[in-house]
Amino acid sequence: MQAVLSCPQCQRVLAQTDGGFSCPGCQRLYPIIDGIPSFVGEGGSEDAFDPGFFALLEHAEAHHFWFIGRREIILDALKRHVPDLSGKRMLEIGCGNGNILRYLQNRTELQLTGCDLFMEGLQFCRNQVDIPLYQIDATLLPFHNCFDIIGIFDVLEHIEPALLDNVLDDLQRVTADVGVFTVHTGRAAKVLPDGRNAHLIQQPPAWWLPKFLERFELANFNRVVMGFMVVVERKRG
Ligand SMILES: [Zn+2]
Repeated sequence: MQAVLSCPQCQRVLAQTDGGFSCPGCQRLYPIIDGIPSFVGEGGSEDAFDPGFFALLEHAEAHHFWFIGRREIILDALKRHVPDLSGKRMLEIGCGNGNILRYLQNRTELQLTGCDLFMEGLQFCRNQVDIPLYQIDATLLPFHNCFDIIGIFDVLEHIEPALLDNVLDDLQRVTADVGVFTVHTGRAAKVLPDGRNAHLIQQPPAWWLPKFLERFELANFNRVVMGFMVVVERKRG
């Protein structure tokens, strides 16, 4: 399934061209790079990960209890809150190297889509799962509310604090039905080139929950190792 794509800058539905997509509103062009439509501006992912990071991450994800436990918790939450997963459209925002997407593809009939800021991760991901992938900026998503389920796993704490409200507003806009979000509440092992901890937001659940409640119905809250998970539903009426 291909999503209906809209201009991340002006929200107009995009037209497909030979090399990518064009916006009939603001005339911006969005290229397809190595088969992956790219909706980040120039320089959007200049501070990309060291490619060796993904090999290391893949090893950790295959073996570390935290990653193994987390993907099981995510699948369990999906099964409990969505009566029939088959054919449901799910978007993972910040899919990294595709570890969770691959796990879900092997165990469900979900129609999966992945997106991430970093092209290196997406290219790695493309070798793991055969699903639509997009390079995006989470503050400017190029999607309408065309996904039943939105997953965002240990990504929100990486967002620049000043942009978090925009990201959450966008999450509200694109979530047609259910959102499953995990948030790490402590420090990251990784330090950014500018010296800041990679978890730009390190806050407890009491800080996060009002932000989710403003925008969604809360269906479930669980503490998980080093953080928490919420299942949310689109506000009715
Ligand atoms: Zn536009």
